[in-house]
Amino acid sequence: MGISSQDLKIITTLADSAQVGIVGVPPLKAIKAIGTRTILDLDEAIVKQNIEETILYLPRVYCAILRTVMLNGLHLDLDAIIIDVGPGKCDAARHVATILSDKLKIPIIQTRNNDQQNFGTPLCEAKMPLMDKMQAICTGVQRPTTHDNHKPCVPTAGFWGVPPRDFSILRYFPDTTHVFGWARCMENKTPDNWQLETMTDNAIPTIFFGQSFCAKTAMAKHLAARHPKGLFLDSDVTTGNSTRAKVQAFLELSGVS
Ligand code: SF4
Repeated sequence: MGISSQDLKIITTLADSAQVGIVGVPPLKAIKAIGTRTILDLDEAIVKQNIEETILYLPRVYCAILRTVMLNGLHLDLDAIIIDVGPGKCDAARHVATILSDKLKIPIIQTRNNDQQNFGTPLCEAKMPLMDKMQAICTGVQRPTTHDNHKPCVPTAGFWGVPPRDFSILRYFPDTTHVFGWARCMENKTPDNWQLETMTDNAIPTIFFGQSFCAKTAMAKHLAARHPKGLFLDSDVTTGNSTRAKVQAFLELSGVS
């Protein structure tokens, strides 16, 4: 199942002014049902409160993206939250959905996005600052169609992984960085596409990024070990100096300007 007809009805009967939080990539049917209502991506750091507040509900040693979801959920004035909890996101999101259901008095709709229609990945291969590119990929999730018509560039570096909690790590990559991993699946609107998620380009130096405490770090480490010019990297809430230095040193030593 992607989303039940009962849950779709809950979404379509929300007021036109409703604010809907989303976590992960909801099925296309859910995005279409939201229509012109306001969408807030709870994976992003919208609320500027101390993330330590979430230790009342989640362990401190937990994925920083889901801690951010919790913080947003606690502080934003939302009318419903749609959380993908299937293989297109993760088990950890399912636990957070349950906790939010207990805590909040709004519908918390759990989906399992198994959409298989490929929308393409032009942004992932476009020439553009990596921070802007990742932001555009994340924002694209809120649209039922793709409007991006970018030409592919010749890649000089690769970034594999999920959109990081702290985008500042992306600042050090060249504009000719191609995006792989789950972020690529996001643009393609197929978050549960294992073949696409594990695709890499062995010709370009690639950083395999995982959010600390995420199960995907195992695959990031594995793919980095198999890649001729790969580096595994993980990062928690913010990008520290040592992570920044590792990225810069790796790209420099790989001859990437
Ligand atoms: S980074 Fe990993 S644990 Fe965190 S929300 Fe994404 S898939 Fe789940």
